[in-house]
Amino acid sequence: MNNFDYEVAGSVEEAVGKSTFIAGGTNLLDLLKYNLESVETLVDINSLDSAITQIETGILLGALATNADTAYHPLIEQNYPLLSKAILAGASGQIRNMATNGGNLLQRTRCYYFYDAHAPCNKRVPGSGCSAINGNNRIMAILGTSEHCIAVFPSDMCVALAALDAVVNIAGPNGNRKLNFADFHRLPGDTPHLDNNLLAGELITGIELPKKGFAKNYSYLKLRDRNSYAFALISVATGLDIENGIIKEARIALGGVAHKPWRVKAAEDYLAGKQPDEANFAAAAEIILQGAIGFEHNEFKIELAKRAIIRNGMMALDPSTQLPGAQPSA
Ligand SMILES: Cc1cc2nc3c(=O)[nH]c(=O)nc-3n(C[C@H](O)[C@H](O)[C@H](O)COP(=O)(O)OP(=O)(O)OC[C@H]3O[C@@H](n4cnc5c(N)ncnc54)[C@H](O)[C@@H]3O)c2cc1C
Ligand code: SF4
Repeated sequence: MNNFDYEVAGSVEEAVGKSTFIAGGTNLLDLLKYNLESVETLVDINSLDSAITQIETGILLGALATNADTAYHPLIEQNYPLLSKAILAGASGQIRNMATNGGNLLQRTRCYYFYDAHAPCNKRVPGSGCSAINGNNRIMAILGTSEHCIAVFPSDMCVALAALDAVVNIAGPNGNRKLNFADFHRLPGDTPHLDNNLLAGELITGIELPKKGFAKNYSYLKLRDRNSYAFALISVATGLDIENGIIKEARIALGGVAHKPWRVKAAEDYLAGKQPDEANFAAAAEIILQGAIGFEHNEFKIELAKRAIIRNGMMALDPSTQLPGAQPSA
């Protein structure tokens, strides 16, 4: 860990334009301790907005609201249970108590080689190469990869936020802006060192959830090597709006498959107007996985993802059936 200055920001205005922000520290401190990131000035933003409030267009999550407070907040449990379940499928109780929502969007990949300072890694050191492509790539991406990086974005919460069409509120040196969730994270392309479209000095101030929460028919399925304290091999967030036994609107987002939560509008459009049954979810799964490419150790994820989409679609018809991921990860 290098020497750095430490400042506490008392307001958004005091924070924007500065160097590295620290919120819960659950990811950043590890990166600093392993010398994977270095900072000049660490700006503590813990005094900023942690409220969860109703707004005209839905709900606003303060960026500093913890994952635990969000998952157990009555407004979220009642109106956005998909988000609640996704958050509780992640990390552990202790980490969720520290981890903030803004920080969750910006956590770094869990690619083994990214965390090994001696391994070539284009994300950590641009131009050095990618150790994962011909290495241990069991947990890596199958969609949207590039020859420069095949890492996945590891968040559970963000998979639900993608399905819910959340909007990220951002304050920066040049003013405030909003970014649709689909545009927040990036694919690796030839700039894998850039995880998202946040600009230098910009601060996430909140996350807006539109009114439509799919509280009646939803499910979050997380498939992983251990049932607790593990990141997803594949995860699926499904929200369905069903009227008279027919799907009016479907939202399906995948985690563990790409550098960002993965959504395919063509598959959602395909489901609209159809019966919510296994055959239709299977057809949607084929559309979603079109173009998927496996590597030596993760080819199995393509079939696993298809089956997860079908299973999760069926569980969304009766959310009380959802397992695993329905219970908080210990
Ligand atoms: C052992 C372990 C297991 C985990 N398992 C899971 C899991 O299964 N699923 C899952 O989804 N997550 C998991 N996590 C990740 C955890 O959820 C994230 O580390 C956490 O959400 C990050 O939030 P934080 O407040 O601690 O961020 P920090 O570590 O403080 O910051 C992370 C990054 O975000 C930046 N940042 C923070 N807040 C803001 C802001 N408001 N504006 C701009 N930049 C900001 C920081 O500068 C830093 O770059 C796990 C973490 C650990 C350590
Ligand atoms: S997959 Fe991405 S993060 Fe992992 S080694 Fe390759 S470049 Fe680095």
